[in-house]
Amino acid sequence: MKIVTIVGARPQFIKAAVISRVLKEKKSIQEVIVHTGQHFDNNMSDIFFEEMEIPKPNYNLNINGLGHGAMTGQMLEKIEEVLIKESPDWVLVYGDTNSTLAGALAAKKLQIKVVHVEAGLRSFNMAMPEEINRILTDRISDILFCPTETAIENLNNESYQNISIKILNVGDVMLDAALFYADKAKIPEVKLPKKFILSTVHRAENTDNQVAITNIFKALEEISKETPVVMPLHPRTKNKLVTMGYNFTNSKICFIDPVGYLEMVFLLKNCEMVMTDSGGLQKEAYFFKKLCITLREETEWVELVKNGFNQICGSNKERIIIGYQNAKKNTTVNFAKGLYGNGDAGNKIIEMLINY
Ligand code: UDP
Repeated sequence: MKIVTIVGARPQFIKAAVISRVLKEKKSIQEVIVHTGQHFDNNMSDIFFEEMEIPKPNYNLNINGLGHGAMTGQMLEKIEEVLIKESPDWVLVYGDTNSTLAGALAAKKLQIKVVHVEAGLRSFNMAMPEEINRILTDRISDILFCPTETAIENLNNESYQNISIKILNVGDVMLDAALFYADKAKIPEVKLPKKFILSTVHRAENTDNQVAITNIFKALEEISKETPVVMPLHPRTKNKLVTMGYNFTNSKICFIDPVGYLEMVFLLKNCEMVMTDSGGLQKEAYFFKKLCITLREETEWVELVKNGFNQICGSNKERIIIGYQNAKKNTTVNFAKGLYGNGDAGNKIIEMLINY
Protein backbone atom coordinates (compact mmCIF):
# COMPACT_ATOMS: atom_id res chain seq x y z
CA MET A 1 0.00 0.00 0.00
CA LYS A 2 1.26 3.48 -0.82
CA ILE A 3 0.17 6.65 0.95
CA VAL A 4 1.00 10.17 -0.12
CA THR A 5 0.93 12.57 2.84
CA ILE A 6 0.43 16.26 2.11
CA VAL A 7 1.76 18.75 4.64
CA GLY A 8 2.66 22.41 4.48
CA ALA A 9 2.00 24.22 7.74
CA ARG A 10 3.26 23.86 11.30
CA PRO A 11 0.24 22.11 12.87
CA GLN A 12 0.31 19.58 10.02
CA PHE A 13 3.90 18.60 10.76
CA ILE A 14 2.86 17.79 14.33
CA LYS A 15 -0.11 15.68 13.20
CA ALA A 16 1.94 13.99 10.47
CA ALA A 17 4.63 13.10 13.04
CA VAL A 18 2.08 10.90 14.83
CA ILE A 19 0.98 9.03 11.71
CA SER A 20 4.50 8.73 10.25
CA ARG A 21 5.66 7.07 13.46
CA VAL A 22 2.90 4.47 13.17
CA LEU A 23 3.66 3.99 9.46
CA LYS A 24 7.37 3.38 10.12
CA GLU A 25 6.35 0.29 12.11
CA LYS A 26 4.12 -1.03 9.31
CA LYS A 27 6.57 -2.34 6.78
CA SER A 28 3.77 -3.10 4.31
CA ILE A 29 2.95 0.60 3.80
CA GLN A 30 5.09 3.07 1.89
CA GLU A 31 4.70 6.72 2.82
CA VAL A 32 5.64 9.49 0.39
CA ILE A 33 5.68 12.92 2.01
CA VAL A 34 4.92 16.06 0.03
CA HIS A 35 5.77 19.41 1.69
CA THR A 36 4.00 22.20 -0.15
CA GLY A 37 6.31 24.83 1.32
CA GLN A 38 3.52 26.91 2.90
CA HIS A 39 5.67 27.27 6.06
CA PHE A 40 9.36 27.24 5.23
CA ASP A 41 11.47 28.98 7.91
CA ASN A 42 13.71 26.75 9.97
CA ASN A 43 11.72 27.44 13.14
CA MET A 44 8.35 27.00 11.40
CA SER A 45 9.26 23.85 9.47
CA ASP A 46 12.69 22.09 9.62
CA ILE A 47 12.82 21.99 13.41
CA PHE A 48 9.65 19.86 13.52
CA PHE A 49 11.05 17.30 11.06
CA GLU A 50 14.26 17.08 13.11
CA GLU A 51 12.85 17.07 16.66
CA MET A 52 9.85 14.89 15.92
CA GLU A 53 11.81 12.54 13.62
CA ILE A 54 9.48 12.97 10.68
CA PRO A 55 11.02 11.47 7.53
CA LYS A 56 12.48 14.10 5.18
CA PRO A 57 9.86 15.09 2.59
CA ASN A 58 10.22 13.25 -0.73
CA TYR A 59 8.98 16.36 -2.52
CA ASN A 60 9.29 20.01 -1.52
CA LEU A 61 7.09 22.17 -3.71
CA ASN A 62 8.37 25.44 -2.26
CA ILE A 63 5.07 27.31 -2.74
CA ASN A 64 4.65 30.22 -0.34
CA GLY A 65 4.21 33.95 0.00
CA LEU A 66 1.26 34.07 -2.40
CA GLY A 67 -2.40 35.05 -2.11
CA HIS A 68 -4.91 32.29 -1.37
CA GLY A 69 -5.91 31.71 -5.00
CA ALA A 70 -2.40 31.64 -6.44
CA MET A 71 -1.09 29.51 -3.58
CA THR A 72 -3.89 26.94 -3.74
CA GLY A 73 -3.76 26.92 -7.55
CA GLN A 74 -0.02 26.31 -7.73
CA MET A 75 -0.27 23.60 -5.10
CA LEU A 76 -3.06 21.90 -7.02
CA GLU A 77 -0.97 21.83 -10.18
CA LYS A 78 2.23 20.59 -8.51
CA ILE A 79 0.53 18.02 -6.28
CA GLU A 80 -1.26 16.61 -9.33
CA GLU A 81 2.11 16.04 -11.01
CA VAL A 82 3.40 14.19 -7.94
CA LEU A 83 0.25 12.07 -7.66
CA ILE A 84 0.38 11.06 -11.33
CA LYS A 85 4.00 10.01 -10.87
CA GLU A 86 3.50 8.21 -7.53
CA SER A 87 0.05 6.73 -8.17
CA PRO A 88 -0.73 6.13 -4.47
CA ASP A 89 -3.64 4.17 -2.98
CA TRP A 90 -4.44 6.98 -0.57
CA VAL A 91 -3.79 10.67 -0.14
CA LEU A 92 -3.68 11.80 3.47
CA VAL A 93 -4.48 15.42 4.32
CA TYR A 94 -4.62 17.13 7.71
CA GLY A 95 -6.63 19.98 9.16
CA ASP A 96 -7.68 23.05 7.28
CA THR A 97 -4.95 24.87 5.37
CA ASN A 98 -4.64 25.64 1.66
CA SER A 99 -2.33 22.60 1.44
CA THR A 100 -5.19 20.43 2.81
CA LEU A 101 -7.65 21.61 0.20
CA ALA A 102 -5.18 21.50 -2.70
CA GLY A 103 -4.10 17.96 -1.75
CA ALA A 104 -7.66 16.67 -1.44
CA LEU A 105 -8.80 18.28 -4.67
CA ALA A 106 -5.80 17.11 -6.72
CA ALA A 107 -6.32 13.54 -5.48
CA LYS A 108 -10.08 13.44 -5.93
CA LYS A 109 -9.88 14.68 -9.53
CA LEU A 110 -7.47 11.82 -10.23
CA GLN A 111 -9.86 9.42 -8.48
CA ILE A 112 -7.37 8.66 -5.76
CA LYS A 113 -8.97 8.02 -2.37
CA VAL A 114 -8.70 10.90 0.11
CA VAL A 115 -8.37 10.59 3.88
CA HIS A 116 -9.02 13.71 5.95
CA VAL A 117 -7.59 13.69 9.46
CA GLU A 118 -9.17 16.22 11.84
CA ALA A 119 -12.42 16.26 9.89
CA GLY A 120 -15.83 17.63 10.80
CA LEU A 121 -14.68 20.71 12.66
CA ARG A 122 -16.67 23.88 12.16
CA SER A 123 -16.34 27.41 13.47
CA PHE A 124 -19.46 28.49 11.53
CA ASN A 125 -17.48 31.55 10.48
CA MET A 126 -17.22 31.52 6.70
CA ALA A 127 -14.90 34.54 6.80
CA MET A 128 -12.16 32.18 8.03
CA PRO A 129 -10.07 30.74 5.17
CA GLU A 130 -9.73 27.60 7.31
CA GLU A 131 -13.52 27.09 7.46
CA ILE A 132 -13.74 27.12 3.66
CA ASN A 133 -10.87 24.64 3.39
CA ARG A 134 -12.44 22.26 5.94
CA ILE A 135 -15.90 22.22 4.44
CA LEU A 136 -14.66 21.58 0.92
CA THR A 137 -12.10 18.98 1.99
CA ASP A 138 -14.62 17.04 4.07
CA ARG A 139 -17.08 16.88 1.19
CA ILE A 140 -14.63 15.36 -1.32
CA SER A 141 -12.90 12.93 1.05
CA ASP A 142 -13.52 9.17 1.19
CA ILE A 143 -12.78 8.73 4.88
CA LEU A 144 -13.24 11.38 7.56
CA PHE A 145 -11.36 10.80 10.79
CA CYS A 146 -13.00 13.05 13.37
CA PRO A 147 -11.37 14.03 16.68
CA THR A 148 -14.60 14.56 18.68
CA GLU A 149 -18.28 13.68 18.91
CA THR A 150 -19.02 17.34 18.14
CA ALA A 151 -17.29 16.90 14.79
CA ILE A 152 -19.50 13.88 14.04
CA GLU A 153 -22.59 15.90 14.99
CA ASN A 154 -21.48 18.75 12.71
CA LEU A 155 -21.28 16.32 9.80
CA ASN A 156 -24.67 14.80 10.66
CA ASN A 157 -26.14 18.29 10.68
CA GLU A 158 -24.84 18.68 7.12
CA SER A 159 -26.54 15.37 6.18
CA TYR A 160 -23.31 13.44 5.73
CA GLN A 161 -25.17 10.30 6.78
CA ASN A 162 -26.78 10.44 3.31
CA ILE A 163 -23.44 10.54 1.48
CA SER A 164 -21.19 7.53 1.01
CA ILE A 165 -18.25 8.76 3.04
CA LYS A 166 -16.88 6.71 5.91
CA ILE A 167 -16.91 8.73 9.14
CA LEU A 168 -15.21 7.72 12.38
CA ASN A 169 -14.40 9.37 15.69
CA VAL A 170 -10.89 8.12 16.46
CA GLY A 171 -9.92 10.85 18.92
CA ASP A 172 -7.38 13.56 18.32
CA VAL A 173 -3.92 12.86 16.88
CA MET A 174 -2.71 15.94 18.78
CA LEU A 175 -3.33 14.01 22.01
CA ASP A 176 -1.15 11.17 20.69
CA ALA A 177 1.58 13.77 20.08
CA ALA A 178 1.19 15.40 23.51
CA LEU A 179 1.41 12.02 25.29
CA PHE A 180 4.36 10.76 23.24
CA TYR A 181 6.46 13.92 23.54
CA ALA A 182 5.41 14.92 27.10
CA ASP A 183 8.59 13.61 28.73
CA LYS A 184 10.83 14.83 25.89
CA ALA A 185 10.24 18.53 26.63
CA LYS A 186 13.17 20.84 25.88
CA ILE A 187 13.92 24.11 27.69
CA PRO A 188 13.91 26.95 25.15
CA GLU A 189 17.29 28.68 24.82
CA VAL A 190 15.94 32.01 26.05
CA LYS A 191 15.62 33.70 29.42
CA LEU A 192 12.13 33.00 30.73
CA PRO A 193 10.28 34.62 33.63
CA LYS A 194 9.69 32.30 36.59
CA LYS A 195 5.91 32.51 36.32
CA PHE A 196 4.40 33.22 32.95
CA ILE A 197 1.39 33.02 30.69
CA LEU A 198 1.95 31.33 27.33
CA SER A 199 0.41 33.22 24.44
CA THR A 200 0.31 32.90 20.65
CA VAL A 201 -1.49 35.09 18.12
CA HIS A 202 -1.50 34.46 14.39
CA ARG A 203 -5.06 34.10 13.01
CA ALA A 204 -5.72 36.34 10.01
CA GLU A 205 -8.94 37.60 11.65
CA ASN A 206 -6.71 39.20 14.32
CA THR A 207 -3.55 40.07 12.40
CA ASP A 208 -5.46 41.57 9.46
CA ASN A 209 -7.68 43.67 11.72
CA GLN A 210 -5.98 46.75 13.15
CA VAL A 211 -8.54 47.22 15.94
CA ALA A 212 -8.44 43.56 16.98
CA ILE A 213 -4.66 43.25 17.10
CA THR A 214 -4.30 46.58 18.92
CA ASN A 215 -6.80 45.56 21.60
CA ILE A 216 -5.31 42.11 22.08
CA PHE A 217 -1.83 43.51 22.58
CA LYS A 218 -3.12 46.25 24.90
CA ALA A 219 -4.69 43.54 27.04
CA LEU A 220 -1.54 41.39 26.99
CA GLU A 221 0.67 44.37 27.94
CA GLU A 222 -1.69 45.16 30.85
CA ILE A 223 -1.73 41.55 32.06
CA SER A 224 2.07 41.30 31.66
CA LYS A 225 2.50 43.93 34.38
CA GLU A 226 1.20 41.29 36.82
CA THR A 227 2.05 37.96 35.18
CA PRO A 228 4.54 38.16 32.31
CA VAL A 229 3.28 36.92 28.98
CA VAL A 230 5.71 34.81 26.92
CA MET A 231 4.90 34.90 23.23
CA PRO A 232 6.61 32.83 20.52
CA LEU A 233 5.99 35.33 17.76
CA HIS A 234 4.54 34.02 14.49
CA PRO A 235 6.16 35.66 11.40
CA ARG A 236 2.80 37.01 10.19
CA THR A 237 2.15 38.72 13.54
CA LYS A 238 5.69 40.03 13.73
CA ASN A 239 5.34 41.64 10.29
CA LYS A 240 2.06 43.22 11.32
CA LEU A 241 3.43 44.58 14.61
CA VAL A 242 6.52 45.97 12.87
CA THR A 243 4.32 47.68 10.25
CA MET A 244 2.21 49.15 13.05
CA GLY A 245 5.37 50.54 14.68
CA TYR A 246 4.86 48.45 17.83
CA ASN A 247 6.98 49.61 20.75
CA PHE A 248 8.97 46.41 21.33
CA THR A 249 11.60 48.21 23.43
CA ASN A 250 9.18 49.23 26.18
CA SER A 251 7.00 46.14 25.91
CA LYS A 252 6.33 44.07 29.04
CA ILE A 253 5.65 41.02 26.86
CA CYS A 254 8.50 38.52 26.55
CA PHE A 255 8.63 37.98 22.78
CA ILE A 256 10.62 34.98 21.60
CA ASP A 257 11.08 33.42 18.17
CA PRO A 258 8.74 30.56 17.25
CA VAL A 259 9.93 27.40 18.99
CA GLY A 260 9.89 23.71 18.14
CA TYR A 261 7.25 21.37 19.51
CA LEU A 262 9.47 20.05 22.32
CA GLU A 263 10.12 23.60 23.56
CA MET A 264 6.41 24.25 23.28
CA VAL A 265 5.71 21.24 25.48
CA PHE A 266 8.08 22.74 28.07
CA LEU A 267 6.24 26.08 27.91
CA LEU A 268 2.87 24.34 28.19
CA LYS A 269 3.96 22.32 31.20
CA ASN A 270 5.39 25.34 33.01
CA CYS A 271 2.99 28.17 32.22
CA GLU A 272 0.24 29.51 34.47
CA MET A 273 -2.35 29.58 31.69
CA VAL A 274 -2.64 29.93 27.92
CA MET A 275 -3.99 32.83 25.84
CA THR A 276 -4.23 32.08 22.16
CA ASP A 277 -6.08 32.29 18.88
CA SER A 278 -4.52 28.98 17.79
CA GLY A 279 -6.73 25.94 17.36
CA GLY A 280 -4.14 23.37 18.40
CA LEU A 281 -2.93 25.25 21.43
CA GLN A 282 -6.42 25.41 22.98
CA LYS A 283 -6.41 21.63 23.22
CA GLU A 284 -2.79 21.38 24.29
CA ALA A 285 -3.60 23.71 27.18
CA TYR A 286 -6.17 21.10 28.31
CA PHE A 287 -3.80 18.15 27.67
CA PHE A 288 -1.26 19.84 29.96
CA LYS A 289 -3.92 20.84 32.49
CA LYS A 290 -3.89 24.58 31.92
CA LEU A 291 -6.84 26.93 31.53
CA CYS A 292 -7.13 28.73 28.22
CA ILE A 293 -8.40 32.10 27.09
CA THR A 294 -9.29 32.10 23.42
CA LEU A 295 -8.60 35.31 21.54
CA ARG A 296 -11.35 34.70 19.00
CA GLU A 297 -15.12 35.02 18.94
CA GLU A 298 -15.70 31.31 18.42
CA THR A 299 -13.93 27.99 18.63
CA GLU A 300 -14.14 24.62 16.89
CA TRP A 301 -13.29 23.01 20.24
CA VAL A 302 -16.59 23.80 21.94
CA GLU A 303 -16.29 20.96 24.47
CA LEU A 304 -13.46 22.87 26.16
CA VAL A 305 -15.76 25.85 26.68
CA LYS A 306 -18.72 23.70 27.80
CA ASN A 307 -16.53 22.06 30.44
CA GLY A 308 -15.13 25.34 31.74
CA PHE A 309 -11.54 24.83 30.52
CA ASN A 310 -11.67 27.61 27.96
CA GLN A 311 -13.14 31.13 27.94
CA ILE A 312 -13.96 32.82 24.66
CA CYS A 313 -12.82 36.43 25.01
CA GLY A 314 -12.43 37.60 21.41
CA SER A 315 -10.21 40.59 20.80
CA ASN A 316 -11.86 42.80 23.42
CA LYS A 317 -9.38 44.21 25.95
CA GLU A 318 -11.78 44.18 28.93
CA ARG A 319 -13.05 40.67 28.23
CA ILE A 320 -9.51 39.34 27.93
CA ILE A 321 -8.51 40.91 31.25
CA ILE A 322 -11.66 39.58 32.96
CA GLY A 323 -10.91 36.15 31.45
CA TYR A 324 -7.40 36.32 32.92
CA GLN A 325 -8.74 37.27 36.36
CA ASN A 326 -11.31 34.45 36.28
CA ALA A 327 -8.67 31.91 35.28
CA LYS A 328 -6.28 33.13 37.97
CA LYS A 329 -8.93 32.56 40.66
CA ASN A 330 -9.90 29.17 39.31
CA THR A 331 -7.27 27.00 41.01
CA THR A 332 -9.16 23.75 41.58
CA VAL A 333 -10.02 22.62 38.07
CA ASN A 334 -10.43 18.91 37.43
CA PHE A 335 -9.05 18.28 33.94
CA ALA A 336 -9.62 14.51 34.09
CA LYS A 337 -12.10 14.16 31.26
CA GLY A 338 -11.26 12.25 28.12
CA LEU A 339 -12.57 14.83 25.66
CA TYR A 340 -10.21 13.82 22.84
CA GLY A 341 -10.00 10.03 22.98
CA ASN A 342 -7.27 7.81 24.38
CA GLY A 343 -4.18 9.02 22.55
CA ASP A 344 -4.26 6.13 20.07
CA ALA A 345 -5.79 7.97 17.12
CA GLY A 346 -2.73 7.31 14.92
CA ASN A 347 -2.98 3.53 15.33
CA LYS A 348 -6.74 3.56 14.78
CA ILE A 349 -6.36 5.54 11.55
CA ILE A 350 -3.75 3.23 10.07
CA GLU A 351 -5.59 0.05 11.15
CA MET A 352 -8.70 1.40 9.47
CA LEU A 353 -6.81 2.09 6.22
CA ILE A 354 -5.24 -1.38 6.24
CA ASN A 355 -8.64 -3.02 6.70
CA TYR A 356 -10.59 -0.74 4.35
N1 UDP B 1 3.57 25.57 18.11
C1 UDP B 1 4.94 25.34 18.16
N2 UDP B 1 5.78 26.42 18.28
C2 UDP B 1 5.33 27.70 18.36
C3 UDP B 1 3.93 27.91 18.32
C4 UDP B 1 3.08 26.82 18.18
O1 UDP B 1 5.38 24.20 18.12
O2 UDP B 1 6.16 28.61 18.45
C5 UDP B 1 2.68 24.42 17.97
C6 UDP B 1 1.59 24.34 19.00
O3 UDP B 1 2.06 23.73 20.18
C7 UDP B 1 0.55 23.51 18.28
C8 UDP B 1 0.71 23.94 16.86
O4 UDP B 1 2.00 24.54 16.75
O5 UDP B 1 0.84 22.14 18.37
C9 UDP B 1 -0.37 24.92 16.55
O6 UDP B 1 -0.13 25.48 15.37
P1 UDP B 1 -0.74 26.88 14.96
O7 UDP B 1 -1.12 27.64 16.16
O8 UDP B 1 0.25 27.49 14.01
O9 UDP B 1 -2.00 26.46 14.08
P2 UDP B 1 -3.49 26.09 14.44
O10 UDP B 1 -3.48 24.99 15.45
O11 UDP B 1 -4.15 27.32 14.93
O12 UDP B 1 -4.05 25.64 13.13
